Amino acid sequence: MRIIVVLGGIFSGIGKGIVAASIGRILKEYGYSVTAVKIDPYINFDAGTMRPTEHGEVWVTDDGGEIDQDLGNYERFLGISLPKGNNITTGQVYWHVIRNERKGRYLGKTVQFIPHIPNEIKRRIAEAGAGYDFVIVEIGGVVGDYENLPFLFAMRSFEVELGRNNVVYVLVSYMPVPEHLGEMKTKPTQQAIRMLNESGIFPDFVIARASMPIDSVRKQKIETYANIGSENVISAPDVDTVYEVPLQLENERMGEKILHRFGLQQIKKPDWTEWNQMVARIKSPSRKLRIAMIGKYITSGDFELTDSYISINQALEHAAATLDIGAEITWVDSTRLEKIGTDIAKELSGFHGVIVPGGFGSSGIEGKIAAIKYCRDNDIPYLGLCLGLQLAVVEYARNVCGLMGANSTEIDPQTPHPVIDVQKSQVALIKKSKYGASMRLGAYAASLMKNSLVWHSYKKTGRMERDMRLIEKLKNDPGNAFRIGDISGDCIIERHRHRYEVNPKYTEALSKEGIVFSGWHVRNGEKLMEFIELPKLRFFAGTQAHPEFKSSLTDPAPLFVEFLRAAGE
Ligand code: GLN
Repeated sequence: MRIIVVLGGIFSGIGKGIVAASIGRILKEYGYSVTAVKIDPYINFDAGTMRPTEHGEVWVTDDGGEIDQDLGNYERFLGISLPKGNNITTGQVYWHVIRNERKGRYLGKTVQFIPHIPNEIKRRIAEAGAGYDFVIVEIGGVVGDYENLPFLFAMRSFEVELGRNNVVYVLVSYMPVPEHLGEMKTKPTQQAIRMLNESGIFPDFVIARASMPIDSVRKQKIETYANIGSENVISAPDVDTVYEVPLQLENERMGEKILHRFGLQQIKKPDWTEWNQMVARIKSPSRKLRIAMIGKYITSGDFELTDSYISINQALEHAAATLDIGAEITWVDSTRLEKIGTDIAKELSGFHGVIVPGGFGSSGIEGKIAAIKYCRDNDIPYLGLCLGLQLAVVEYARNVCGLMGANSTEIDPQTPHPVIDVQKSQVALIKKSKYGASMRLGAYAASLMKNSLVWHSYKKTGRMERDMRLIEKLKNDPGNAFRIGDISGDCIIERHRHRYEVNPKYTEALSKEGIVFSGWHVRNGEKLMEFIELPKLRFFAGTQAHPEFKSSLTDPAPLFVEFLRAAGE
């Protein structure tokens, strides 16, 4: 096993995850197989119960994990599906150790911080890395955090076990340029290195994140004061898009230097042609579309948090680059839309398309429904993601089918028309399978209605064909984590994270009035609706899934592509 440990210096949020994912992408381009593990030193078992304001978006894996959003970057950059076990938290590590102790697995020994905690960390990393040429281990937080210590200790212990030649450390640090000085300062990074040295870790590379490129004088300073060869100080100034980072690191010959450090050579010549082209399109699209995202306004104190829906932003960026257009996202606060006297037409004028993303709870719901009605009335391209599908059904039930007071029971448990409701039989099934407490989580297959808008979207990108091949393969893998159910005809796979469903008691009435249910998942004889569309409109579609979790630069999510295509028209 070869390990690349990525650590952060000074403060968080400087792109450690993107650097880790970019290194992975480079090595993949060189012909190596790469996987990645994210360590989150918090005590939460996983990110499932965390508010988006705490830690950004909750990322959902095929096997139903609700984990850290950095795993999303790994999947997007590496083009692989990672299992939930690739996200390790302090909570999980202790939970396993204590459980083992209760089961008597330590044979009466004293169970201690050392060696039992680092051993469990190492066991998990080895399990994740088995069969790969490289495992990238990103340690969350910042060097010097108390809670990082057991993980650093485990890495040192790997060094001893695997040999120093098989472990490489990359410190991603920030070099501030204080305005009043106008000079880039390396001192905080020197101190971060010193702090790492105290744990016995000597970084092989320093990634110099900054507002501008680091010059040779400052590279030299890091060499002199922190003993890291200046050729291993890699310049990484701010970029327009995260997809530029692998190219930026390649410019500094980072991949070659890493391979050299491992005593390896390229197996294959990298081909960045497609990647370069997509990056160029993101940076200067031929035209820009304005997309309104109707959601909760996510703030922390005086600051807006843009990370909470990162996968949707990314999926839009991928789809836009595919079409050689740009998508400029504007957040529209749904609570504002529901205020009496708000002119929806004015609020939504000038947008080429509207998205209602996933969400929980009842705040701002009526504002979202008003926006959906506006799209339906005015034929504005609309894409509903999970809650966005549910509310489109509610809107249609109320305003087209005449079901007054129709709602989701999540929002109004007393509604006379629960068009969206929990399916008790499904919850019982989920509980029995021990996947999630009561939510539909992870990958589910859906059968698609031939020739529907959704069917065409998935067919065009080749995704349907690929998903069907995957389903064929899964048939021979009984232990797989995918929920395939009883499929028929053409099908696809997407990830889910929700509790409520279209109520089967209402599907007939809704269909009669024009909603087309163009995709479904059948399990134990029960049909769960996965997609809706209104064929009379240019693009009006909703999905119960979260297609944003499977979108990448070179494999964009089909519904996002068709949504933007319609918006562009
Ligand atoms: N709150 C809704 C549900 O639980 C939708 C969830 C979502 O949008 N991810 O079904």
